[in-house]
Amino acid sequence: MTHTEPAFAKLNLTLDILGKREDGYHDMRMVMQSIDLHDVVTITPREKAGLTLTTDLPFLPKGDGNIASKAAARFFQSTGLPAPGLSIDIRKSIPVCAGMAGGSSDGAAVLRTLRRLCAPDMPPRRLEEIGALVGSDVPYCVRGGTALAEGRGERLTDLPPLPPCFLVVCKPACSVSTPELFGLVRTKRLRCHPDTAGLLSALEHGDLEAASHRFYNVFEDVLPRRYSQVFEIKGALLERGAMAASMTGSGPSVFGLFRDEEPARQAAEALEASCQTVFLCRPAAREDIQW
Ligand code: ATP
Repeated sequence: MTHTEPAFAKLNLTLDILGKREDGYHDMRMVMQSIDLHDVVTITPREKAGLTLTTDLPFLPKGDGNIASKAAARFFQSTGLPAPGLSIDIRKSIPVCAGMAGGSSDGAAVLRTLRRLCAPDMPPRRLEEIGALVGSDVPYCVRGGTALAEGRGERLTDLPPLPPCFLVVCKPACSVSTPELFGLVRTKRLRCHPDTAGLLSALEHGDLEAASHRFYNVFEDVLPRRYSQVFEIKGALLERGAMAASMTGSGPSVFGLFRDEEPARQAAEALEASCQTVFLCRPAAREDIQW
C-alpha cells in the first residue's frame, strides 16, 4: 500500500531576527504561510529492511543526506519503534534553495505519514518536537497554515488564516547562501523590523490590506548588492498592482500579493521572462494538511 502526501511550500509574511543566542542560533519571529505549491511525497512500506529514496531531481541528495531520510531516521530513533523497510519517493515542484522550505516540508510530510502508519495516537505536538530535531523549519511545516514561529522556529502559535488572495511567487536564477546572510546580520544594527503585532491584529480582523502592509523580511536589509534582482522583482510586482511584495526566508524568491486573480495572472506572465520560475499560488489552510 502506498501513502501519498502533499508537502506544501511556505512563505514568510514576516521574518524578524531578535538576537543571537548563546548556542549560536538566532532568535527568530516569523509569520509563516503555507501555499498550495507542493511536492508530492510517496511512502511505500516494503519487505526488505532499510530505506530507499528516489526523487525526480538528480542533484538532490538520495541517501541519508536527504531531509526526508533524516526525518524518517529521527522518527524511529525518537519513538523507539522498529523501523520497517520503506521506499520514499519525492516529486519536486518547490524550487530548491529558494526560501520556501521545500526540504523541510518534504521531511514534515514524511513525519506525518509515519505517524499515521506507525503511531496514530502520537499528539501532533510530539511530532513537531521530533521535527525540531530534523531542522528549524520542520515543526512549522508539520503543522502548516498560518502560524507565528518563534525561537529557532519551534515555538508555534496558530494564527487566523490569511484572507483569500493570490500570490505570485518569483524565483530568480541566483541562489543566496543562508549562512552568509545570517553572517551579515548585526541584530543591533537592523534599521527596520516588521510590525508583527500589527500583522497579527490585521489577521485577527481578517483585513487583507492591513495585513499586506505589514509584510517585511529583515534579510532584505543586509542582502549584498549582487542580489539586486530581488528588489527589481519586488518593484515589478508592485508596479503591476501587487498590494505588497516581500522576499521569503533567506531568499532569493519574492512574492507579491493580489486580491484578484486576473491582475495576479498578468503579473505572473509579465515576470516569467526575467525569472527562473514564476508560480501563481493561493494560501493553503491548516485544514488542507492531512493528519
Ligand atoms: P528554507 O526556506 O527552510 O531555508 P530552502 O527553500 O532555502 O529552505 P531547500 O530547498 O529546503 O532550501 O534545500 C536546502 C538544501 O537541502 C539544499 O542544499 C538541498 O540539496 C538539501 N536537501 C535535502 N533534501 C532535500 C529535499 N527533499 N528537497 C530539497 N532540498 C533538499
